[in-house]
Amino acid sequence: MKKNELNPEPLARESAEYSLRPTNLRDFIGQESVKNNLRTFVESAKKRCIAMDHVLFFGPPGLGKTTLARIVSNELEVGFKATSGPILSKAGDLAAILTNLKEKDVLFIDEIHRMNRLVEEILYPAMEDFQLDLMIGEGPAARSIRIDLPHFTLIGATTRSGMLSSPLRDRFGIPLRLEFYTNAELRIIISKNADLLGIPVSSDGAEEIAGRSRGTPRIAVRLLKRVRDFAVVNDMKVIDKKIADVALKKLDVDENGLDSMDRKYLKCILDFYGGGPVGVETLAAVLSEKRDTIEEVIEPYILQKGLVQRTARGRVLSVEGYKYLGAAVPVGRTYDPYEGDSP
Ligand code: ADP
Repeated sequence: MKKNELNPEPLARESAEYSLRPTNLRDFIGQESVKNNLRTFVESAKKRCIAMDHVLFFGPPGLGKTTLARIVSNELEVGFKATSGPILSKAGDLAAILTNLKEKDVLFIDEIHRMNRLVEEILYPAMEDFQLDLMIGEGPAARSIRIDLPHFTLIGATTRSGMLSSPLRDRFGIPLRLEFYTNAELRIIISKNADLLGIPVSSDGAEEIAGRSRGTPRIAVRLLKRVRDFAVVNDMKVIDKKIADVALKKLDVDENGLDSMDRKYLKCILDFYGGGPVGVETLAAVLSEKRDTIEEVIEPYILQKGLVQRTARGRVLSVEGYKYLGAAVPVGRTYDPYEGDSP
């Protein structure tokens, strides 16, 4: 299975991709309303010579949350420190990072919903009053001390804003939701990246890759690199539609951008559960995947494509889902919007 090609999670070997990341708002393609808002907040903070308010980016993986966080620090012309929720296991880890920040620095915490509750509590006074409450010593001799912190901007990124505790969510003055990209936006990203990789892509070649990238730049860039490999091996000077199609077929990515794992997910609902409803835990067990992977990686795009609906009783194949699988739509199967979202 070539799942990694379509998994929007970053891979270790992608560190070289940093050089391909846009470094200012002008070069960042798409997310127009997010960019316009950020431009205003950056300019206002710079004019008032203060740290910008805390920002929360939320949306599926690979849409540019980390890239935007770096861009914000560049535009603000301040320092950038990055960490992630699961790494911060002890309150002391976060305390060390906070005390080392400089005035107006940006602190980026990726996967902030995975942060330990004890660490999170350190963050509340730090975000609100720029103060750190620390316990010194143990037992009866223990005492709490308060340290002033530099005024900083926290930028949190999460794929699951629903999993953030409300006290934490409420402390972000600027919550911004990232949306999937249009094919036109992805085409531009693909062409720019192809130039940076030193092999141009024709407009129909870029279109072909964009259409199969699940609205996600990280996937677009990854697919482009794999198509580039096929082009190089075939001594081609330009990536065109034909080579893109051949390469993507070999990578098992279909015209809709769905891969073998997506098809397994859809077929599982159809073949084992008669089209649903079926709970996500059951699907995770049958597919031998983590529930998080199903909810954060596989489902967002399938739901956006309208192939499956999330109802209070579980996942249900939609009319489009049946058609995609080439199965007969059961009589009377229509989507009932009043069933509501499952938790
Ligand atoms: P996230 O933090 O949301 O998972 P990243 O910021 O790490 O996503 O972006 C993933 C990859 O996609 C990066 O390599 C970045 O270069 C590229 N990328 C994301 N958004 C854009 C964009 N708007 N324009 C160009 N490249 C982008």
